[in-house]
Amino acid sequence: LAFCRSLPKIELHAHLNGSVRESTLQELAGEQLKLGGAKTLPECFKLFDAIHRCTTIHERIQRIAREAAEDFAADNVVYLELRTSPKVHLEHGVTKRSYVDAVLAGLAEYQAACSAVGQTGATVRLLLSIDRREDAAAALATVELAAELMPRGVAGIDLSGNPAAGELATWLPALRRARSLGLALTLHAAEVFNPGETAAMLDFAPERLGHMCCLDARLEAQLAASRIPIELCLTSNLLSGSVTRLPDHHFAALHRAGHPVCLCTDDCGIYGTSLSRELALAGACFDLSPAALARLCRDAAGYAFLPADERAALQAREAARAA
Ligand code: IMP
Repeated sequence: LAFCRSLPKIELHAHLNGSVRESTLQELAGEQLKLGGAKTLPECFKLFDAIHRCTTIHERIQRIAREAAEDFAADNVVYLELRTSPKVHLEHGVTKRSYVDAVLAGLAEYQAACSAVGQTGATVRLLLSIDRREDAAAALATVELAAELMPRGVAGIDLSGNPAAGELATWLPALRRARSLGLALTLHAAEVFNPGETAAMLDFAPERLGHMCCLDARLEAQLAASRIPIELCLTSNLLSGSVTRLPDHHFAALHRAGHPVCLCTDDCGIYGTSLSRELALAGACFDLSPAALARLCRDAAGYAFLPADERAALQAREAARAA
């Protein structure tokens, strides 16, 4: 674990409200909400609804965004893509726009605190998530907001939420619009077995895919041919029951085949993990050498949703650190 902590890391799949500090959640929610431990996916989505009820207030969103940046940086994450679905909570005056403004204010607060002590801190980019419960208009509103906020650090669009909810056709117009506006795309895919949707997602060819747990042989072949980088979240998949044993996790086969993959936390608050811990788990379960773990971190830099020149600079920094 100490070696994994010392590695400069790249986190590409972290949900803001899933990355909330346990102490902060306890302060905001009292004893009613407990994090940690195994949860089925439906239980997770119930927990998210409960978390949202106590965090979707401007000052609190700002706080959890700042704390998430601080916590990842404390784990030696040098580049972080944080994702969140912009929410409307009119009782608290929260609109999609004001929600994202609050997240960006929290991230700016983190950067200002780093500058104040002469540090550069982690580079943080924001992805806006379309929640699978949303209709086509709400998805499009999120995409337009993301495009408008690109100059302030919004780098892409994610599709996430309960895999049992909604269908891809609803959000495809918004996803196509995002692509036309120059936003990079990542889709949660195959968290449950849904071969028609997974094949359509692969055909759509987003820049990255998340999870890809439940595939048949035909989808495995389609994925292998696509070379689309996969964001893999070991603890999340184990605790939510998407895989039964870590040694059986599809990381092993993908990594062995040389498919582009990166290790990510998903919801480090809910699952009580960190990116260092995910790397250490991978090292132990799949017998990876320190050099292989360092290579995974370096390779992840190549999948960042950054303009080509900034991505190349991040990769060069990672390579220089490793040398
Ligand atoms: P938020 O977008 O900041 O509110 O982060 C929590 C949200 O991320 C949840 O309500 C889900 O929509 C999404 N999310 C977090 N973890 C998962 C997952 O494992 N699968 C699908 N969606 C997820």
